[in-house]
Amino acid sequence: MSSTITLQDKEFVPFISEQEITEKIKTLATQLAKDYDGKKPLFIAILNGSFMFAAALFKELAIEAEISFIKLASYKGTKSTGHVITAIGLDTDITDRHVIILEDIIDTGKTLHSFLPQLYNQHPASLKIAVLLDKPEPRKFDVPVHYVCFTIPNKFVLGFGLDFDGFGRNIKEIYKLKEDE
Ligand code: 5GP
Ligand code: MG
Repeated sequence: MSSTITLQDKEFVPFISEQEITEKIKTLATQLAKDYDGKKPLFIAILNGSFMFAAALFKELAIEAEISFIKLASYKGTKSTGHVITAIGLDTDITDRHVIILEDIIDTGKTLHSFLPQLYNQHPASLKIAVLLDKPEPRKFDVPVHYVCFTIPNKFVLGFGLDFDGFGRNIKEIYKLKEDE
């Protein structure tokens, strides 16, 4: 693993190696294959951050399954609707399907907490959440997280799909912000 990298004048240091990521994702794929065998689950990956996690996981999955990618757009609604989240690209009917959401990282939980009711409204057979990284410390909104690759402290991270100001997604490992140490 290479040492310190600099992006937009911020220094990042190595945190989770490519090998550790690969191993955890294989373990998760094995667990999911066991839990969902014969259920033809539908994975819904949330772009942009989860594209690399989703690809790595899906390649390792040895059961029949579908995958779809969506983007969440967040905007301030009216006083009564509050924070509104809309899903772009959710074109698969999830009624009676076993659905697994793939997310790069859960932080405050706000994004998923606001979005999940829209999925429950379509009455999936089951709905679970799998994340690459879980940061439990800053959690402000309740989100049920069922599968976690890594539980991490409250530090800003990038790489393996996660960005800093749009950059760094192509880094094979996960780095953390140095000033956060
Ligand atoms: P939440 O709604 O749970 O607070 O935020 C989730 C989203 O915030 C993630 O999908 C991700 O896009 C972004 N995020 C939260 N923490 C980090 C982090 O440490 N690094 C990066 N790159 N994105 C983060
Ligand atoms: Mg995200």
